[in-house]
Formats: sequence, C-alpha cells, structure tokens
Amino acid sequence: MKWRDLRCGEVRPDQVGQRITLAGWVDTRRDHGGLVFIDLRDRAGICQLVVNPERAPEAHAVTHEVRNEFVLRATGEVVARAPEAVNPNIPTGEVELQVDELEIVSRCPPLPFQLDEENVDETLRLRYRWLDLRRPRLQRNLKLRAQMVAVIRRVMEEAEFLDIQTPILFKPTPEGARDFVVPSRLHKGRFYALPQSPQILKQLSIIAGFDRYYQIAICFRDEDLRADRVQEITQLDVEMAFPDRDFIFGLMEEMCVAIWSECVGVELRPPFPRMTYAEAMARYGTDKPDLRFWLEIEDATEFTRASQFKVFADAPCVRYLTVPQELSRADLAALEELAKEWGAKGLAYLVYDEEGEVRSPIAKFLAEEELSVFRADPGSTVLFGADEPRMVARVLGALRSHLGQTLGLIDETRFEFVWVTDFPMFDWSEEEGRWGAVHHPFTRPTPEWEERFDREPAHATAFAYDLIANGNEIGGGSFRIHEPDLQARVFELLGIGPEEQRAKFGFLLDALGMGAPPHGGIAFGIDRMVMVLAGEPNLRDTIAFPKNQAGVDPMSGAPSEVPPEQLDELGIAVVVPQEEH
Ligand code: ASP
Repeated sequence: MKWRDLRCGEVRPDQVGQRITLAGWVDTRRDHGGLVFIDLRDRAGICQLVVNPERAPEAHAVTHEVRNEFVLRATGEVVARAPEAVNPNIPTGEVELQVDELEIVSRCPPLPFQLDEENVDETLRLRYRWLDLRRPRLQRNLKLRAQMVAVIRRVMEEAEFLDIQTPILFKPTPEGARDFVVPSRLHKGRFYALPQSPQILKQLSIIAGFDRYYQIAICFRDEDLRADRVQEITQLDVEMAFPDRDFIFGLMEEMCVAIWSECVGVELRPPFPRMTYAEAMARYGTDKPDLRFWLEIEDATEFTRASQFKVFADAPCVRYLTVPQELSRADLAALEELAKEWGAKGLAYLVYDEEGEVRSPIAKFLAEEELSVFRADPGSTVLFGADEPRMVARVLGALRSHLGQTLGLIDETRFEFVWVTDFPMFDWSEEEGRWGAVHHPFTRPTPEWEERFDREPAHATAFAYDLIANGNEIGGGSFRIHEPDLQARVFELLGIGPEEQRAKFGFLLDALGMGAPPHGGIAFGIDRMVMVLAGEPNLRDTIAFPKNQAGVDPMSGAPSEVPPEQLDELGIAVVVPQEEH
C-alpha cells in the first residue's frame, strides 16, 4: 500500500487537480456546521483539509471523533482556495485538500497542555517531552541543530580532519567538574569515569599520527546545575598537530560563517576581533564580553590616586561606566543593591541632568580636574567601582550587562563574535588551598612563561583562547604541552605529585615521551551554539531529551534505583543519607 504522496507542508498550487494522500497530526479542527476544516501537520508544515458532508459523507462522519493530536490519513483532491480564503502566512496557503477518504490512524486523549499554550510549566513539558517537541519552536531548534552539525561535519571533512570516536567508559579527564562514575561488574570495586571531554584521547590520537582529529562528542560533567548548564553537553572537539593559531581561528571562523549563513541566512564578517583576557576584563569586566552594545568600562586609577575622596584614593583600582541615561534615585538604589549582591561595598555615582548639572553625594569630595575627567553628556550617569581589580571587573561587568539588557542597549538582531586570548594559567582555590588550572592541566603556558610559570603562577598566562558570541562562550581551546617534563612540572604545581601523576596520567606521560608532536585544538559547545543561533534563552530547549535543573528526567524518572540483586552483582552497597529517607 502506498503510504502517501507528499508531506503536509509540501502541497503547492502545481498539485491542483491531483489526487493525493496526506498523513499527519491534527493541529486544529474547526466545524463550520457543515464543512469541517482540519489543519493536518507534519514536520514539513501544515495543510488544510476540507471535509464536505455532501462530497464525502463517510469521511465527514469520521471528523466527529477527531481531536487534536490524533494521527489521520486523508485522501482527496488538491484544490485551489478561493482568493479570499488564501492564507499568506503558510507555504501551503493557496491550496487545500478536498477529502474523500479519512482514516483515524491513532488517537490521543485530552492533552496535558495545548501545544500553542505559552508558559507551560517546564516539568510538565519535560514529562511529556514527545508532545512538547511537536511545538514549532522546538521543531525549529532541533532542525537548526541538525543542520548545524551537518555544516560542521562538511567544513571539518573538507579541511581533512578525521572523525575519530573515543570511548565513553574511560578514566577521569579533568575539565574542572566532578566525574560521573560507572561501576564495573567484572572488576568489582573499580569504576570507569565518563569523559568530561575527550581531551586526553584527542591528544593521544594526534600522537598516534592522526594529525587532524575531530569528533562530535558527548561530554559528561557532574556539575551543580545552574540555569544555563547541563550535565551532558555535546561538543565539536578538534585537535591538530603542528598547530598554527591563525589557521585554527581561520577555520573556526569559516565554520561559523557557513553555519550562520546556511542555517539562519546571516552573513558574518570574519576575521573576528581578538582581545586578550586582560583587555576584556578591563574594558568589559568579563572574559565573555557581549559586543552587541558599546558601553565600555574606563580606568581612572591614575587620576584618583591623589583624590580627596578616600574611597578612591585608597582603592587599588578605580574604574567607571558612563551610562547614557539620567538614572533616578530609585534606579541607583536598585543598582547599588545589585552591586552589593555581586560583592561591592557600595556604588558611587555622578548623575548629570538634562542641563548638565551634576547630582551626587560624592561630587563635593572631587576636585575640579577629577570632575572634568568624568564629565559626561547631559542626561547621563557615571557609575564607579573602587576595589581590587577583580572585584571592580566583576561588579562593573555585571552592571554593564544588566544595564545593556534593562536600558535596551543591546541590538538583538546582531551577532558579535570575539576571540579572547592569553588567559591566566592558574587560579588559586581558597577552599582547597591550592592552584587549579583555569583551562585544563594539559594547556601550555605562553612562550614567555614556559621557564618561570611555577615561580609566579598568579601571573602566568596560558596559550588558551575562547570564542565568544553575543556574550556566550561558544568555544574554547588551547595549545597543549607535548613535553613530558613540562607536563610533570605543571602537574606538580597543581599539587599532583609524582605518584599520583603515574597512577592517573602515566599513560599520557608515556605517550608524550614517545614522539609527541606539538599539538593544539579547540572545542565548541553545540548546545550553546544552537542557543545563540536560534536566539533560544533556554539551553535545555536546544536538546531533544534534556534533564531538568536538578539533573532528573521527569519523563523516564532517571536517575532511578537499582534492584538489590544488581547492586550485589556490582559489589555495591548504597548508603542513603538519613534525611533522604
Ligand atoms: N577539552 C576542552 C574542553 O572541553 C577544550 C579543548 O581544550 O580543546 O573545554
């Protein structure tokens, strides 16, 4: 039997007069007390069915039972709609199907939520994800995602990168999160770790002579979840031997240009700007600057050294943002609250009214020269941060993005990319009392730090880079250490002694000692890229079957308990903390 001629969304005026069969889901059903109209939907779109009781009495009888989301099969004749009935909003809007035969293929009970309902509770949506995924927005996101992956593969293959699959059951691969572990039945008491990324394995692939590697890989990170984090991320993972940073940046730019052009019809203009981490922190207060709006942080530390205003004179760093609006007292009080939440002690400001008169509790402490440095246009506000440079960056950076949003300074139609380079190599963890790797432990220092990174770890820079799109980190990578002794020094600094190095990374150190070429690479978060590409605020809505913010899948109930026999086989006893009983 013939399944159908066309998909619902594909019917066009050139089919007028033809007899076809369509199958799909009932999007809507309208009974005009005689004629019944049904919008039949599939992935390709919607086609209007018309069931006329005189032409097709049997089919018309069937329509009485039809409800939303039933699956129907309809056979009939494609006819042109009367001019006044044309729907210009859908590609099939000039035609409709005059139904002769109608069959209910599958039924559906009353829906837990309507597909066109806004603001449905996310747990309910995830519980019935198969219904949620039928909505146009999610259909679009997943389609964009698939198109994007196809473009990525094409660009990588054309540049002669080889797709190499690496194992899911592996050893810990440190990317700064906790590992998911999997017990081994055959080796009781031992565990695999799910890779936080194929980092070590891609390095080994290069050492193995595959000089250009890529993979669309799933990475598992047991993180405490925030709004824009998930535990399973999909990543385009790239590595090459004898790397050249301009080549890597150029190829990734070419890939982004192809993705944006082919998936959303936007022409990006490479080369993307580059700035160092230090510059990004000073000018935008973040290593993920959103360049869709121009607001920039300026430095005043030098001018304010001799200030009469003690807060400025004593602060290691004084910076300011000039906002193009005369903010009210209430606005300023609200901003000060936010600044305090981000760690500031207060928020100093100068407001210039429409006449250019200054209004500020601190103005009287500032000398004329100081005021002239900060003088802004009438109808604007200068906001200050005075503290340690990190704190100033954090507070002014957060204020900048907050004001970008709330004052509508962001041009939502733009896509602005920027490379951020020369990250710090290490950061000090107060909690653990030791240095950690900012990127990962396999990242090499920039050449000028190779000799002395261990003497001044706080200042050492790494040969690492991120690609930022509209303030989102979509990619990040580095040049790697290919010398076993350099790798051992970095491990040492990170507090990983020789024995632990052997136990955890002995195989990597051995490989580095057996003809390892210089290598480097990058990884792109596919989920995050779709988010930016689709303008989708919810990371989970770029993923077909995500878990919720607590790491639970409301659809299947995972993670779930395991029967005692299975635990016995694994040699595992579960100790449930008291409060969870
Ligand atoms: N493995 C790194 C990550 O997943 C990326 C890289 O260095 O290539 O973030």
